[in-house]
Amino acid sequence: PERVVVVGAGMAGVQTAVALREQGFTGTVTLIGAEPHQPYDRPPLSKAVLLGTAEGSAFDVDFEALGIELRLGCEALGVRPGEHLLDTSAGPVPYDALVLATGAEPIRLPGAEGVPGVHLLRTLDDAERLRPVLARQHDIVVVGAGWIGAEFATAAREAGCAVTVVEAADRPLAGALPAEVAAPMTAWYADAGAVLRTHARVERVEPGEPGAVILDDGSRLPAGAVVVGIGARPATAWLAGSGIELGAYGEVLADERLRTSAPDVYAVGDCASFPSGRYGERLLVHHWDNALQGPRTVATNIVGDAPATYDPVPYFWSEQFGRFVQYAGHHTSADTTLWRGDPSGPAWTVCWLRDDRLVALLAVGRPRDLAQGRRLIEAGTVMDPRLLTDPARPLKAA
Ligand code: FAD
Repeated sequence: PERVVVVGAGMAGVQTAVALREQGFTGTVTLIGAEPHQPYDRPPLSKAVLLGTAEGSAFDVDFEALGIELRLGCEALGVRPGEHLLDTSAGPVPYDALVLATGAEPIRLPGAEGVPGVHLLRTLDDAERLRPVLARQHDIVVVGAGWIGAEFATAAREAGCAVTVVEAADRPLAGALPAEVAAPMTAWYADAGAVLRTHARVERVEPGEPGAVILDDGSRLPAGAVVVGIGARPATAWLAGSGIELGAYGEVLADERLRTSAPDVYAVGDCASFPSGRYGERLLVHHWDNALQGPRTVATNIVGDAPATYDPVPYFWSEQFGRFVQYAGHHTSADTTLWRGDPSGPAWTVCWLRDDRLVALLAVGRPRDLAQGRRLIEAGTVMDPRLLTDPARPLKAA
């Protein structure tokens, strides 16, 4: 191909453009992004950027030196695969290869849209709007005890706000972790001085100074601000009518080489799912490492002669309530759970085994377990479950 066009100037889009150059691609690379800002990294938005200990999180990439043409403030509106054309707010853009990297957008709280004082946390603009909210130290209600909710609650407590987290499920991270693993995390909220209310559904948000969150049991929580962290879904509505196949969550259905159902169109990062050979199911991963690794496969498949297959061991981290939480792999409820260490203590690990092989682990304050475990997962090593549970022993093969 001569002309590669990448849509979405987040982590996955930027990494794709960079990887193309790293792999020797000499044609034109155009990176199109809807946001007006210089491309930036998202994880600091719920951490240092929110607390004001970092000004911004722009990627340290010299686009000009790499010959990457940046078109910011430009929104993709549709694709015409038959004509190899991308339609944008600035007109049609022809491509030889197109990479979809439009990421995800936060799910909005029904009925709270446009209510003053209700915030999301996905973009730099969101984080900048939230900084003065933290500085005012009001009562803050966080809706959703997921990864973003926990990280935001951590920052808000650090800033001295009174924080109540309301969660519809019976525990934090209900979508991601089984009850026994999430159980010790419940205590983290109280330790940090945040109130966690489970089985709590928001009925409505009342605007005002302060406003209030009304729960379905009738309770009324005063709220100087409301922060909604109830999940994200692929930002793919703009692909409707393109013929590009989407899945149940609106994600682009990529194949094992990250190709879409349209010729010469690839998809990577938060907007796409792929079939995992390793885990035998399709994975939709909304984490940073996937937006780093996937682009290398895409670039290889655009540039190289030999096709590359994407089959990662997924990885992510979260920093919440003074703890460093890391997860590698992928587990299902059918896998066996084994503990290393005391979950009420500051550091512990949970391992998931399938046929005595490590398929996933979650490490709290045990980065060495994570590093060793990740390699064992990659290698598919057979483990001795009895040795595994001794936290004093390094994680290694039987
Ligand atoms: P995005 O980062 O969403 O980038 C997509 C870009 O495409 C956006 O800039 C968007 O504006 C643009 N776009 C969308 N539609 C269009 C269109 N039609 N036309 C043009 N441009 C468009 N992961 C971790 O592993 N650890 C963490 O600690 C962590 N912390 C996080 C904290 C926050 C606050 C957030 C929001 C996410 C965090 N993540 C974390 C997740 C991680 O940031 C994402 O997985 C990663 O950003 C995905 O990159 P992406 O490029 O696929 O998508």
